[in-house]
Amino acid sequence: MPNLTRRTLLAGSAAAAVCARGGARAAANTAPSGRQVPGVYRYQIGEFELTALYDGIWYRPIDGAFIRNAPFADVERALAEAFMPADKLATPFTTLVVNTGKKLVLLDTGTGGQIAPTAGTLAANLAAAGIAPQDVDLIVISHFHPDHINGIKDKDNSVVFANAEIMVPGPEWAFWMDDANLNAASGPLKLTFRNLRRIFSDIAGQVTQFTPGAEVAPGVLTLPAAGHTPGHTVFAIHSGDQSLMVLGDTAQHPAIFARHPDWQAAFDIDGIAAVATRKRLFDRAAADRMLVTGYHFPFPACGHIVRTAQGYEHVPTEWQPTL
Ligand SMILES: [Zn+2]
Repeated sequence: MPNLTRRTLLAGSAAAAVCARGGARAAANTAPSGRQVPGVYRYQIGEFELTALYDGIWYRPIDGAFIRNAPFADVERALAEAFMPADKLATPFTTLVVNTGKKLVLLDTGTGGQIAPTAGTLAANLAAAGIAPQDVDLIVISHFHPDHINGIKDKDNSVVFANAEIMVPGPEWAFWMDDANLNAASGPLKLTFRNLRRIFSDIAGQVTQFTPGAEVAPGVLTLPAAGHTPGHTVFAIHSGDQSLMVLGDTAQHPAIFARHPDWQAAFDIDGIAAVATRKRLFDRAAADRMLVTGYHFPFPACGHIVRTAQGYEHVPTEWQPTL
């Protein structure tokens, strides 16, 4: 755009105003909606149809304790470079429905509207996608943090997906259901223990544990990815000659944790293992040029991971108008 000065821009907008005069009445009569459009994105892996459903975003307050092994000044610089607020981590939530043709599988269940006023849009987006909660056959959980399991129930503690079998990682169940671990936990971690007991205690009979590494439905493979939590699990979706890695919380917002893969966040139960898992999976995704999705990546949360001199970068997928 040569010679684009403020003067030419102003001249341009004057011309545009003249051009728009014919349509001015229609524009003036259209009131702003004041509402966001649905957060739904569909794509295919082989024969499988995938639906990414946006559950909103939480701006998580953070301070000097957030990254265990980096000065807060470095974190603040990373936030500024990512155009995030100085003291908050942008934490979007995206769940994924996989229609294998035989089963409708939901991977993680969102916040249930119980985390932040700006999150909890899963139910509306599920409806916008034309999926009824009772049509979900199987829920597979990556780990037991509230933003992944709270959507199993509504605010009144009623089950949302009435016909769904629920599968959870065995090591996750073993860690969080251990009363000794609950008693040893402090502060916010204790709340996490209490919350997941609220979710699971009266439906324990409907919950099946799997060993990470198992195939939980044809084409839906689980892979051990401990660190963030002791039983944190990721998923590999395979159909035909295509595949997708569902990274869960291997990294939260990629602008922070892909660019700084060595950072150990306060919410990683084993920070050293979390970093090792992140690098192992990111190296594989980058080397194999795999399509990946991350639960806390910007919506629609799918794309690729590339290696950079300092770490990694997430390259978002292009929005496709057709499947
Ligand atoms: Zn999470």
